[in-house]
Amino acid sequence: MTESHVGDPKSGVFRLMAVHAHPDDESSKGAATTAKYAAEGNEVLVVTLTGGERGDILNPAMDRPGIKERMTEVRREEMAKAAESLGVRQTWLGFVDSGLPEGDPLPPLPEGSFATVPLEEATEALVRVVREFRPHVIITYDEHGGYPHPDHIRCHEVSVAAYERSGDPDAFPGTGQPWTVSKLYYTHGFIRDRMVLFSDEFARHGQESPFAEWLSKWDPSRGDLMGRVTTQVECSKYFPQRDDALRAHATQIDPNGVFFAVPLEWQQRLWPTEEFELARTRVKTALPETDLFAGIEA
Ligand SMILES: [Zn+2]
Repeated sequence: MTESHVGDPKSGVFRLMAVHAHPDDESSKGAATTAKYAAEGNEVLVVTLTGGERGDILNPAMDRPGIKERMTEVRREEMAKAAESLGVRQTWLGFVDSGLPEGDPLPPLPEGSFATVPLEEATEALVRVVREFRPHVIITYDEHGGYPHPDHIRCHEVSVAAYERSGDPDAFPGTGQPWTVSKLYYTHGFIRDRMVLFSDEFARHGQESPFAEWLSKWDPSRGDLMGRVTTQVECSKYFPQRDDALRAHATQIDPNGVFFAVPLEWQQRLWPTEEFELARTRVKTALPETDLFAGIEA
């Protein structure tokens, strides 16, 4: 199902694979970290599981004739620009976006969409790319998907299954030489501590916080995701590249929206890291970490 070849991996460098459900997720979740590792000479491959075919136009400026009709093509162009901004390579697995079901009761998922594809079939497609690219580290979402979209939950399941099985010589014959991935991480973006810090800074400047509503709806029984974070990667230098990549997804990201509400300088000064949870490891490492490749030899 893979549509483009990722090429032969070089030796002596680290390889990082970021598995995402839709085009744009790679730019909003752990993006600056991927830009940093790529800039430092490592190989970084974003694997996008679906084409984002069912995405709505979320930027009013792009809601104009001729866009919705060719959404798949537009999102491919946006993705190529975003990958260029981040300095990473990208490939598609070729599955079809399940869309975000809405209503009560929820409607059934569209026939043939990614979340309805048998897990075994989707895992095989990802294992094929893992065995070709041979990543030391895979980044994906936690068991809640980071966001309750069926494709995000599925992305988690497929990534964990590929991590567990790509090194097993008996699994998925005909998809390449077995490759054992050293570590698997979940990316965490909705950190309450971070929102509070920025909200306080808005207050200090006599401005209303864009996170006020989000924070007021916070359920304290949920606990902050920060409690799950094992690894913080300093990547503030790459925030401008992350922002460029986000803006490249012009149909999906409103340049006047919350992603750009916090001045870059505040972000770089107050919270210069991106957060990850070490979910599985086959190497010894000491927590907390500041490097996704800690404990691995290239
Ligand atoms: Zn998504």
